[in-house]
Amino acid sequence: AYQVHSGSSMGHVSAGGRIPLGLKKKGLRIVVTGGAGFVGSHLVDRLIQRGDSVIVIDNFFTGRKENLIHHYGNPRFELIRHDVVEPILLEVDQIYHLACPASPVHYKFNPTSVLGTMNMLGLAKRVGARFLLTSTSEVYGDPLQHPQVETYWGNVNPIGVRSCYDEGKRTAETLTMDYHRGLGVEVRIARIFNTYGPRMCIDDGRVVSNFVAQALRKEPLTVYGDGLQTRSFQYVSDLVEGLMRLMDGEHIGPFNLGNPGEFTMLELAQVVQETIDTNARIEYRPNTEDDPHKRKPDISKAKELLGWEPAVSLREGLPLMVSNFRQRLFGDDPTRNK
Ligand code: NAD
Ligand code: UDP
Repeated sequence: AYQVHSGSSMGHVSAGGRIPLGLKKKGLRIVVTGGAGFVGSHLVDRLIQRGDSVIVIDNFFTGRKENLIHHYGNPRFELIRHDVVEPILLEVDQIYHLACPASPVHYKFNPTSVLGTMNMLGLAKRVGARFLLTSTSEVYGDPLQHPQVETYWGNVNPIGVRSCYDEGKRTAETLTMDYHRGLGVEVRIARIFNTYGPRMCIDDGRVVSNFVAQALRKEPLTVYGDGLQTRSFQYVSDLVEGLMRLMDGEHIGPFNLGNPGEFTMLELAQVVQETIDTNARIEYRPNTEDDPHKRKPDISKAKELLGWEPAVSLREGLPLMVSNFRQRLFGDDPTRNK
């Protein structure tokens, strides 16, 4: 159910009834928290393109204004510098809640998940908006079931260095379901698996951005541990499509959104070598604590109920990210790093 848009201003709330999504005449009013970040900025592009009005809430902890600069001046776009651990009041139809430090390097210093999610659920309840939580495959911890199905409850160390993220997102899922069951808020939950693409933070420590930046800078690729741990890498446009289908569909979830193609870190390094520099060296480093040994989504549920599956393979998606990183690292100078 959505608010009728009888006015043109972003702050307008109609006194009228609600109409199904398919009947709406104007775009929706949508908040994207964390919209200046990697995934959020790609989502904003799609929503603006579709004709919606978008308010981004971001504190720029890892996000960048550059990711959104092409929307400046568009009357359907607003950017608010705000920390979601503080409440905010806005009149909107949908809330995509992405704000949260997502890289292990960052989240170890900043547990945002719980307070931010509570505030955004409070907003959703107050204005009758539909709320989508971007949860994570990390809720499965170091999984004892492979591939991971949504019904698996996970294997998480509650007192480890990763737990503020894992347990934070698990608590965020709990809060989301409690607001739904207890207070009738319309909710959606996505469990996102490792995602890569243009606009990723260059130095945020995640493996794909590390390897790509290292290969471009002619530095060795740092493989942690024995490099035999696995991850499944999803291109960002596939994720954004999945998030929008989930938000606009009829199913609460949780839904795994990820690419089932599974790679060891050594295999990933090899794809990066083939894409950027076949001479790139590999350097082994000690692995981080509690690192999950393997991860791969079972996406049967999303296929069946959302009609969604990834379309871009790692070998297709990686070159798109590489040209974006090359541009950001070296500008237009064609003589650099060729
Ligand atoms: P990102 O770091 O690029 O984006 C997060 C954004 O949230 C940034 O713009 C940051 O400035 C903002 N932010 C952080 N704390 C905030 C706060 N307190 N108030 C307001 N804004 C805040 O990361 P991303 O990869 O785009 O991740 C987006 C969401 O998807 C996150 O919730 C993350 O947990 C989830 N997710 C991502 C992946 C992935 O592989 N990219 C995997 C699983 C889940
Ligand atoms: N990793 C690596 N080299 C790096 C960064 C990470 O080998 O430079 C490994 C890391 O140990 C983990 C995997 O890559 O096994 C994915 O790490 P990332 O931080 O990207 O994501 P997450 O652990 O959250 O899945």
